[in-house]
Amino acid sequence: MNETLLAPEDLGPSKGLDAIALLSSEERLQGRPKLCSDCGLCDSGLKAKMSSACIFVRNQTEAIEQRLYGRTAQVKDELRFGIYRAQYAARCLRPHPKAQWSGIVTRLAARLLEQDQVEAVITTGAAPGTRFKAEPALARFPEEVLATAGNKPCLSPNLRLLDQVRDQGIKRLAFIGTSCQVHMLRALEPELGLERLYVIGIPCSDNVTYPDLEYFLTQISRSPQTVVHYEFMQDFRLWLRHEDGSSERVNFIDFPMDRLHGIFPSACLSCFDYANRLSDLTIGYMGAPLGWQWVLVRTEIGESLFELIRPALEFGELTSSGDRTRAMPRYIQGLTRPPGAKRPPFLVRKLVAYLQRTRGSKGLEFARAIIEMKLLRNLNYVRSKFPRFEARVVPEHVYQTLAPYAETYQTVFGRPLRPPVI
Ligand SMILES: Cc1cc2nc3c(=O)[nH]c(=O)nc-3n(C[C@H](O)[C@H](O)[C@H](O)COP(=O)(O)OP(=O)(O)OC[C@H]3O[C@@H](n4cnc5c(N)ncnc54)[C@H](O)[C@@H]3O)c2cc1C
Repeated sequence: MNETLLAPEDLGPSKGLDAIALLSSEERLQGRPKLCSDCGLCDSGLKAKMSSACIFVRNQTEAIEQRLYGRTAQVKDELRFGIYRAQYAARCLRPHPKAQWSGIVTRLAARLLEQDQVEAVITTGAAPGTRFKAEPALARFPEEVLATAGNKPCLSPNLRLLDQVRDQGIKRLAFIGTSCQVHMLRALEPELGLERLYVIGIPCSDNVTYPDLEYFLTQISRSPQTVVHYEFMQDFRLWLRHEDGSSERVNFIDFPMDRLHGIFPSACLSCFDYANRLSDLTIGYMGAPLGWQWVLVRTEIGESLFELIRPALEFGELTSSGDRTRAMPRYIQGLTRPPGAKRPPFLVRKLVAYLQRTRGSKGLEFARAIIEMKLLRNLNYVRSKFPRFEARVVPEHVYQTLAPYAETYQTVFGRPLRPPVI
């Protein structure tokens, strides 16, 4: 049968976890590093710089932190969230109806264009005729950047637009993107010849290719074709909104992991920067109470960006409750189960979902929990699939952050959390 006639739900994930490239765009990705998040750099004239910039060839977080902040992350939350000088729970007083949350990101970038502080913004729109297929866009006018509001929750080759930036003689640029994109951009920043660069980061984890996004929706939603918005919320549920305004909520624990196994690219499973620690400011949600956005102001430039958007915002309170460290030993034990194992029985899932919602970590503690879980999972992924890469792709802050779990890790896996110095 001709494969192209099959619906996404019949196709299954587009690739296996062991695959070394993103098969859904296999040809375009030939000659890339083994781990590739399709950031777009290799589509640009800067491809020759890939080996010195790519986070999946050599993670340069510490060196870039030194350049940006004059030091590396040292203490407590800095290790998990990256260095920041202030953090807020905030949202737009007048939310953008198409925004992912309230639209702080696109509003801020539009303001930069309105006030002529930048000549262009690299942002992510949707490919024509699709709702969610990411298409990088070089916005020159405020309305162009506002039109890109809302997540296209799949890999987006945003850095390929650096060619257009150069060709159009743009010297003052704002960039909106995920942490892998931001790492490459920062690594190359001194060579780009820009007079000004503003980096607006969004947190990101477990991204997927567009075909796998479509497949994911077929496995999760009662009506995948009509989903207009979805987000992995702080109450351990996926919230989906449909064209007719109706909503759907799916507990994370109810995800059919046996059928989702294989949708996450090896690169995303080898990523250690959930919070986008090299941006000027990060705008997400996961450290804020439900309904609010979480803003981390990192650099002096980030502070000026925040002051620019401040009048358009209202503020809530950052809170923190629960104790992630109690659940972590069980989580570490769970990492020994084969990936893609079947879900627990219905009643167990119901109980776990209830406990997560009512007693689970909330606010900043939720962000700490989620970040630490992903660090642990990804460290183990690199160790099992790409052991020779560990020294190059796992940054120091991972071992420091996870040090409190070293004993449990050693007991469960029979090897030390921090590799011995040879
Ligand atoms: C794949 C993905 C995973 C995310 N995971 C988390 C998470 O786990 N925790 C968390 O706190 N936040 C996460 N975010 C960020 C969060 O969902 C919101 O995008 C962010 O809070 C901004 O909301 P907003 O209303 O201010 O943005 P809007 O004003 O609606 O603007 C959204 C901006 O996101 C950009 N964008 C959309 N899709 C992509 C893409 N594929 N790649 C790069 N940029 C894109 C657009 O350029 C646009 O400028 C994720 C975002 C993405 C794209």
